[in-house]
Amino acid sequence: MNELTGRIFNIQKCSIRDGRGMRTTVFLKGCGLRCLWCANPEGISFAPEISLNPVNCMGCGFCLKQCPSGAVSLDEKGVMKYDRSKCAACGLCAQLCPTEARKQFGREYTVDELFRRIYQDHFYFEHSGGGVTFSGGEALMQPEFLLEICRKCKDYKIHVAIETCGCGNYEKFAPCLDYIDFIYFDIKHMDSEMHRKITGQSNVHILENLKRISGHGKEICVRTPVVPGWNDSEENIRATAAFAAQCANVRRYELLAYHKLGINKYKILGRQYQLEDVEEPGKDHMQHLVDAANEVLLPIGKKCFYNSENSADE
Ligand code: SF4
Ligand code: SF4
Repeated sequence: MNELTGRIFNIQKCSIRDGRGMRTTVFLKGCGLRCLWCANPEGISFAPEISLNPVNCMGCGFCLKQCPSGAVSLDEKGVMKYDRSKCAACGLCAQLCPTEARKQFGREYTVDELFRRIYQDHFYFEHSGGGVTFSGGEALMQPEFLLEICRKCKDYKIHVAIETCGCGNYEKFAPCLDYIDFIYFDIKHMDSEMHRKITGQSNVHILENLKRISGHGKEICVRTPVVPGWNDSEENIRATAAFAAQCANVRRYELLAYHKLGINKYKILGRQYQLEDVEEPGKDHMQHLVDAANEVLLPIGKKCFYNSENSADE
């Protein structure tokens, strides 16, 4: 019988942004949404992918010699060419590349192998009150693996958080909730058609999933990445706050300012970034939206934050 594996594209240590204390964040590959601004485009597809950053290439030619698919070649001027349509994403070039000009995103881990990586950090979890956060891509898209790794973490009393866009199948991921302590749940837009425009999917099953998850008793923080011109109207933020307010166990609502830090990843993955013209929102605008959300939330004992105030969840 094949051993259960999960496909991971990054493991980030010492994170202070993904939950309380110091955390190790594990990024699972594959997502059901296609958000226009996604800062982790290497996590969207479930298939492994190869990036090429020409700036780091020193021209050693290892990739050219080793590629079994003819995806790497030299043109008539001796310049290295990479044909993604021929690339089988075998990862051989990335393993040999001495400068990380080529990197592979997406590698299989068994539960025990991933747990050993997580457990290396247990001292700083204990000292900071931190733990592990499963992110993505979309953590809930690999529910069988997520269940086993969360169960193992709880066996060792490690605090477990997830970051989700909520687009998985509830019946499949619900068993994981027993082993999760804290949930970050994204709502990108309350209007279903606008949600489809900016993410490729309607929000109907996402909102339904939030209602169902919130009945499970685990603490939830709803988050909205604020993208100017797309979802940053006061009306949308108030509507999101009102929806979050109805859900049991949603204690806070957090607004994350859109940023362009992921743009270079699009270049090295050979993809087009679609929001080149969108500017990052100013602090005043973010504060205005926080105030609008708080008019809805404060009277019922809940609160909205701007992400620069992102203190650890209690
Ligand atoms: S991942 Fe494999 S097929 Fe693709 S360029 Fe590298 S060696 Fe060639
Ligand atoms: S192996 Fe890396 S450094 Fe060497 S030629 Fe290929 S991309 Fe450049």
